[in-house]
Amino acid sequence: MATYPTLSAGIGGTPLLRLRGASAATGCEILAKAEFLNPGGSVKDRTALGLLDDAERRGLLRPGATLVEGTAGNTGIGLALLGNSRGYRAIIVMPDTQSREKIDALRAAGASVRLVPAAPWSDPNHYAATARRIADELNAAAPGSAWFANQFDNLANREWHEAHTGVEIWEQTAGTVDGFACASGTGGTLAGVGRALKARRPGIVVALADPAGSALASHVLTGELKAEGSSITEGIGNGRLTANFLDAPIDLAWSIPDAESIPHVHALLRDEGYCVGLSSGVNIAGAIRLARHLGPGHTVVTALCDSGMRYQAKLFNPAVLREKGIPVPGWLDEAFGGA
Ligand code: PMP
Repeated sequence: MATYPTLSAGIGGTPLLRLRGASAATGCEILAKAEFLNPGGSVKDRTALGLLDDAERRGLLRPGATLVEGTAGNTGIGLALLGNSRGYRAIIVMPDTQSREKIDALRAAGASVRLVPAAPWSDPNHYAATARRIADELNAAAPGSAWFANQFDNLANREWHEAHTGVEIWEQTAGTVDGFACASGTGGTLAGVGRALKARRPGIVVALADPAGSALASHVLTGELKAEGSSITEGIGNGRLTANFLDAPIDLAWSIPDAESIPHVHALLRDEGYCVGLSSGVNIAGAIRLARHLGPGHTVVTALCDSGMRYQAKLFNPAVLREKGIPVPGWLDEAFGGA
């Protein structure tokens, strides 16, 4: 076992977990990167590290500078923790629709959290635009005092996944991976892993698993950004093409309803003991669809992006699930139905 000198050394290098139920159902090997094991609890620790290392390398960060980012929460958690480790403060802007658990994790880490109403990307009060404005204002008052991480359009995000996450998957499967499926928020994971795998074997199939309410699957399939329905998932889906997403080499895409994805999260916890978050359900659903597309005998990889405890108030709440038309397993109803 390695000894880590600092927090950043513990980011990435996650194990590949065999998903027993999904593998049995498809006759494929379905494997998933255990991203919930990162120190900040999500795949976005990787993004935070990639963005921060790149900014430091380029001399954009003064000692003691303030890191500013717009995020669904997980990138903010990664940045806040890395900031604590390296002597930076963090201002994190989030839409007020995101889970209480992520907001609390940020506050506990000492980040200054600014909640804004959910708004379209083009709105000047969108969380990313707000974060950029805060960084600009700080820099106007004291040049070099703040840095806007810009995870959606800063290609250091995708590049880190290409150099690390994708290479890990290739090496951990000894090059036997046939397909990779996952959702896209910034697109960093999908584009980075997709590019790394295709560079090693162009025939590897890359698939986008898009939550309902996102326009990305429609864009891949028809060229048109069209969103239908809605989803309780967080941190995935998009109504626009980010710079990181634009370079994703995508072969297949599906729009996946919550009624399909969330039951995978419940089943994985109940039958295999892994407690994963909402986006992991979309990723598992995508991996299963990809496995069925490829046929039995193939190896399909996806990612379990964070923990279910980050969404406790809705993922394990029968009333919330029922209201959204998501099936409620009997054991969950028994445990929390009367609560
Ligand atoms: N899952 C979760 C839980 C996330 O927070 C995010 C990022 N917001 C993603 C998946 C999507 O990852 P990416 O930004 O690399 O597309």
